[in-house]
Amino acid sequence: MITRLNARSQSADWQRAMARAITDPAELLRRLQLDPALLPATRQAARNFRLRVPLAYLGRMVPGDPHDPLLRQVLPLGEECLEVPGFDPDPVNDLAAMPVPGLLHKYHGRALLVTSSACAIHCRYCFRRHFPYQNAAAIREHWPRILMYLRSHPEIREVIFSGGDPLTLTDDRLAALAVDLAGIPHLRTLRLHSRLPIVVPERVDQALLDWFTGTRLHPVMVIHTNHAQELDGTTRAAMERLHLAGVRLFNQAVLLRGVNDTVQALTDLSHALFDSGVQPYYLHLLDPVKGAAHFAVDQETALALMATLTRQLPGYLLPRLVRDIPGQDGKITLVPTL
Ligand SMILES: *Cc1c(COP(=O)(O)O)cnc(C)c1O
Ligand code: SF4
Repeated sequence: MITRLNARSQSADWQRAMARAITDPAELLRRLQLDPALLPATRQAARNFRLRVPLAYLGRMVPGDPHDPLLRQVLPLGEECLEVPGFDPDPVNDLAAMPVPGLLHKYHGRALLVTSSACAIHCRYCFRRHFPYQNAAAIREHWPRILMYLRSHPEIREVIFSGGDPLTLTDDRLAALAVDLAGIPHLRTLRLHSRLPIVVPERVDQALLDWFTGTRLHPVMVIHTNHAQELDGTTRAAMERLHLAGVRLFNQAVLLRGVNDTVQALTDLSHALFDSGVQPYYLHLLDPVKGAAHFAVDQETALALMATLTRQLPGYLLPRLVRDIPGQDGKITLVPTL
């Protein structure tokens, strides 16, 4: 028995943290001392898209506050079950853009891989909440065809690991993918889009740094943070480990009603990112996904917020306000008139 307990078969700290995440709505309400009357609607909404909150993230919420900006991102609400015209299961029409299952090639020079169907946290506003992953997250099965596609498109410089969350895969698996990609001469950059460094900061361990910075590809990480309260000493330390290993760090946020739709919240976020060595990159308008209409901020309000941010922040702390419009060959940048 003892011989089986080698380093490889033991689960890493981050895997144990993921396994301990809260998935029971009653437990979430109890731990945060919230009104049990919320439970029936929460249970019903969680049936469509399960509740999932890692304990590290829960620990940054303020107990007793039903409007806590972190809680709002994960608490299933009755509003999710309403049918709202214009809010659809696949708002960005991803399925139409897959030349090989698991590979999205919509933008010049960049190809995006849906590497994993799993996430460490379930964000209620997620545009992939209805994504039929069983068709898409077929990276393993279709890997030879994906490599062939990438080899035959010399204009692709960058491969993006997305999901789900790519960092739910094991480092052995990710290392194998990175090595295969590094073998394609025209690829230059490997970019990860992940929420794990925020919600399970112990995910940024030496094994990750080793494979991510261990090929000739430039390592880029886009973290997903929507509110300054999501950043603390543990996430700052994770960013520092990435930075010292040579990873370029960017953040993308989603503009969410009741979470970060104020000038104060957005300036605080940019400053907190700066303190963590992370460059603000995108502020997304919500993709109109079914079940998330209550998070929507209209374009006019978003532009007014951006106009104020533009006056109050140095240019290097300003995210670009963008929206994804089906059929376009890039995200559309919305620029406020000043
Ligand atoms: C967002 C996205 C990208 C990356 O876009 P950038 O502007 O380079 O950040 C690439 N492919 C797809 C399909 C995307 O949705
Ligand atoms: S894909 Fe991103 S936004 Fe969606 S649930 Fe996973 S971590 Fe949250």
